Amino acid sequence: MKVTFVSVKPVRSTRFTRLRGYASVELMGEFKIIKLRIIEKSDGRLYVVYPSIPESVYCDICGGKRFPKDRYCPSCGVECTIDMPKTQYREIAFPISGELNRKINVAVVREYNKIVAQERKNGTTHQNKG
Ligand SMILES: [Zn+2]
Repeated sequence: MKVTFVSVKPVRSTRFTRLRGYASVELMGEFKIIKLRIIEKSDGRLYVVYPSIPESVYCDICGGKRFPKDRYCPSCGVECTIDMPKTQYREIAFPISGELNRKINVAVVREYNKIVAQERKNGTTHQNKG
């Protein structure tokens, strides 16, 4: 499978976050994934993290679905008093093969480096788009 299009939006680097940008990719011109995150490892290398959502937990009173950060149950309205585990995130779209994972990483990091180099050359700095 080929990566046929890559779009990257760098974000302003800070020492508080390892997030360096967002990306979207198209595969074979037929499938698009948005909101990939570009993360800098402690050794300075960049890698791609696939879109994820927080995993649900369930209310002890009504069994309704809620997120760990909810202070009140969205189903029954009871205050959530039991300490919940830290929010766990689950990837919702990701390559199954290591080969495609490598292709996506190479394409995204190449585009990121190209844009950042252009911005440096032009004397512009990238904006933090959140
Ligand atoms: Zn409830």
